[in-house]
Amino acid sequence: MNVITQNLAQVRQRLREAERLAGRPEGSVGLVAVGKTWPATVLAEAYRLGLRDFGENYLQEALAKQDELKELAIVWHFIGPIQSNKTRLLAERFHWVHGVDRLKIAQRLSEQRPVDLPPLNVCIQVNVSNEPSKAGVGLVSLGELAESIAGLPRIKLRGLMAIPAPSDNYDQQRDTFRTLREALEGLGLAGLDTLSMGMSDDLEAAVLEGATLVRVGTAIFGERL
Ligand SMILES: *Cc1c(COP(=O)(O)O)cnc(C)c1O
Repeated sequence: MNVITQNLAQVRQRLREAERLAGRPEGSVGLVAVGKTWPATVLAEAYRLGLRDFGENYLQEALAKQDELKELAIVWHFIGPIQSNKTRLLAERFHWVHGVDRLKIAQRLSEQRPVDLPPLNVCIQVNVSNEPSKAGVGLVSLGELAESIAGLPRIKLRGLMAIPAPSDNYDQQRDTFRTLREALEGLGLAGLDTLSMGMSDDLEAAVLEGATLVRVGTAIFGERL
C-alpha cells in the first residue's frame, strides 16, 4: 500500500470513530482534501481512492491543477485568503469559496458568477479565537454580514468556516468549534447546512461539535513540500 492509501484509510477511520462517538450517521461528515503544494498527479491519486472534494489556498497553483485535472469530476473549494482583484477567477473556476469575510468580496463574487453556472457556494469565515490580526469576521458583526450575503442573487450562503488558533488541548478545541456551531444556529437563516471546521490535528473535536466538512491536508498527503 502506498502512503496516501494508508493515510487516507487512517483519516477515514478517525472520521468514522468520531461520527460514532458523536452519534452521527456514518459518512455524514464530508472530507475536503487540501492539496496545497502537492502536484496534480498526487491529487489524481487521491481522486482514484474516492475523494472528490479538493481544497486549494493559492489561486495560481489551483488554476494550473484544475487545467491538468479537468477530465476529473472534482468539486473545487477555495480555502485561502481572498484578494478583491482575484474574485472573478474564483467566481468562474470554483464550486465553493470558504473564506468570505467582507460584503464587498461577496458582492463581487455574486456579480462575477457566470450565469450558466449554479450559484456559488459560500461560507463566511469567522474569527472565532478573536485573534486581532486574523482573517474572519468577528462574532459581533456576523449576523449583519450573513443577512446581506444571503440576499445576493448569485451566491448560495451555505454556512460558516473557521481556522482556530492551533491548540493541543481537546477541550479547548471543542470550545472553539462549539462557538462556531452556536454562531451558525444563532443566525436563524434558512438553508444554512455547513460548518467547515476541523483539520488534520483537530478533526475529532470538530466532528463532535457538528462539523459537516473537515479540511484535511497533512494527514492525507504527508508534510507539505
Ligand atoms: C492548509 C489548510 C488546511 C489543512 O491543514 P492540515 O493541518 O494540513 O490538515 C485546512 N484549512 C485551511 C484553510 C488551510 O489553509
